[in-house]
Amino acid sequence: MKTQFETLLKNLDLELTDKQFNQFETYYKYLTEWNEKINLTAITDYDGVFMKHFYDSLTLTKLVTFNNQSLLDVGSGAGFPSIPLKIMFPELKVTIIDALNKRINFLKVLTEALDIDVTLIHGRAEEQNDKESYDLVTARAVANLNVLSELCLPFAKIKGYFLVMKGSKGEEELENAQSAIELLGGTHLQTISFEIENEMRTLLKIEKVR
Ligand code: SAM
Repeated sequence: MKTQFETLLKNLDLELTDKQFNQFETYYKYLTEWNEKINLTAITDYDGVFMKHFYDSLTLTKLVTFNNQSLLDVGSGAGFPSIPLKIMFPELKVTIIDALNKRINFLKVLTEALDIDVTLIHGRAEEQNDKESYDLVTARAVANLNVLSELCLPFAKIKGYFLVMKGSKGEEELENAQSAIELLGGTHLQTISFEIENEMRTLLKIEKVR
């Protein structure tokens, strides 16, 4: 199993250590066990979780080089994309905010089991005060880009990046959100599109310029 995931991650130029692989296995175990009590994911099969949650989260490495930046993951749910990123880049300073307390409780137990240090906030992004504090802000499957830009861009520092994970409608959403992004001090730098198991993915890199 390790070799399969290892091979997959080579596509992203990522090397997987035994420790990291064990952390992903633990993540899978907790995710599927807790999913029986609280709704965390529709995907529960081993290959599906590794591909569509873990690998998918790590495709953000196509947009930026991760090291010791501060990263806010808005609406992280069961931890995507920030927990897989934290496993692969332990120096990242990750903060997660989610409106659902039961998901934050899951993440508390999970991060203890994985022995990783992540700041967990239960609340709505629009009610937080730590604006312009993060080098990177991420969001996957939270809201359409217009709303998402309002939620996320204020948290990015000047010269920081808002990294958006979208599906097949990414380009269309970007067109509709261009003026909102500009108003919020953002500028679109890059779009990367690719497929994961015949499903379209669109990654957007937006810089906070003012
Ligand atoms: N990002 C995860 C993923 O890709 O699997 C979770 C996606 S889930 C569909 C959306 C999550 O965003 C939910 O956990 C929800 O509680 C959270 N959410 C939605 N609006 C939010 C807001 N305004 N502030 C904080 N969290 C929010």
